[in-house]
Amino acid sequence: MGEQAGGWRAARIAVSLACCECKSRNYKTTKAPDQVVSLKKFCKQCKKHTVHNETK
Ligand SMILES: [Zn+2]
Repeated sequence: MGEQAGGWRAARIAVSLACCECKSRNYKTTKAPDQVVSLKKFCKQCKKHTVHNETK
């Protein structure tokens, strides 16, 4: 079993998720190269759920 098994799309990219309000990088995830990540997650700085966008 190789890491580059055929049939799978391009390798996933590691990105950080930053709060859109305070810009704090609270989470890490992986995504497909053509995917745009935007998730609602809890921010410790804002003490509430906010939208988190991918950042590098
Ligand atoms: Zn925040």
